[in-house]
Amino acid sequence: MIEVKLTNQAAQNIKQGYPLIMKDALVDSKQLKKEGTLFKIVDSSNNYLATAYYGIQNKGIGWVLSRNKKETIDASFFKEKITQALKKRENFYQNPETTAFRIFNSEGDGIGGVTIDYYAGYYLIDWYSEGIYAYRKDIYHVLETAQNYQGIYEKKRFDKQGKYIEQDDFVMGERAEFPLIIKENGMNYAVNLNDGAMTGIFLDQRNVRGLIRNKYAHKKLVLNTFSYTGAFSVAALYGGAKKTINVDLAKRSKVMTEEQFKVNELDYEAQEIRVMDVFNYFRYAKRHELEFDIVILDPPSFARSKKFTFSTAKDYPELISDTIAITKQNGVIVASTNNASFGMKKFKQLIDQGFKQSNVQYKILEEEYLPEDFKTNKNYPESNYLKVVFLEKL
Ligand code: SAH
Repeated sequence: MIEVKLTNQAAQNIKQGYPLIMKDALVDSKQLKKEGTLFKIVDSSNNYLATAYYGIQNKGIGWVLSRNKKETIDASFFKEKITQALKKRENFYQNPETTAFRIFNSEGDGIGGVTIDYYAGYYLIDWYSEGIYAYRKDIYHVLETAQNYQGIYEKKRFDKQGKYIEQDDFVMGERAEFPLIIKENGMNYAVNLNDGAMTGIFLDQRNVRGLIRNKYAHKKLVLNTFSYTGAFSVAALYGGAKKTINVDLAKRSKVMTEEQFKVNELDYEAQEIRVMDVFNYFRYAKRHELEFDIVILDPPSFARSKKFTFSTAKDYPELISDTIAITKQNGVIVASTNNASFGMKKFKQLIDQGFKQSNVQYKILEEEYLPEDFKTNKNYPESNYLKVVFLEKL
């Protein structure tokens, strides 16, 4: 196996547990040629630090797989890691009320660059680099023996040119019939594992949906912005919300949201589903003096529409102050972000800035992070990307 020397700073980081090898970490960047290659990391005195694989992904060029010089990285290595991860989700498999959850969360489960979700018998793998994709057969093989296995689907996230976009994401086993209906705490969600990058539900928001349903929604008028398929609204209606208003720019969000209501036998005609820019909706709502009891904000980290570009790090304060203007007094704002580049502290500062701009007082009601099945890596803070704050407008 080749040995690759790291710069002193990078070696220091790896020694302290950081699992990602950054782009500028190598002393000689030409040493690694083919993605998937395994290599030993050494410091400037040639001391062994870790064994890693080469895979290009955003800021990184590879992930540490082992810190044991003698450990071999082969089929049984992958089997062991995935088996351990499956064991940690044993209680999820036992619960008939929730049939979709994450069974492998990349660096949180010991192998960066790949996540695996379970959707009612079907396993969906997200590959984040060509390097980890090189080990696909070892991983398929373990999943074939996993509980309730019916089939495997996959997304090649490393394909930035869109080469695979039109392709079939089905890998092996039995094909699912779409929409596939999964359950989350007894609610139904329609998902599709073979239609673009997103499946119809974001599993990492399970606990937030639970809170909205159980603690906040009763008899409330709920504005769900960046609503996608309306997953938060389904939860709100189960919790007894008076009505939901769903706003998303994507044309298909309308039929997909109607579908989520229908598969739960909720009255979809009584809900509002608007295909429009959230920022235009804010203006519209203000002009018509609309006010809501609950406003949910779950924007993408970056988005570009015809008129606006939105980046959470820059524009969240503005989003908050726009929201304040259409939230009732003592109403609740659910502010969410999945931007991995900053933590909760910075997020709260952005929120605070928004309230200050509007000259309005507020109270933090509660905070949410990733659920149990989305295991994080304490040496890699970016893995704890989800931050949600429930706020009361005073
Ligand atoms: N809250 C959703 C997930 C949101 S994903 C859920 O829980 O399922 C982000 C969504 O924001 C996408 O559906 C995208 O179409 C939408 N979006 C991005 N920019 C937008 C804008 N300016 N106005 C309205 N929707 C937007």
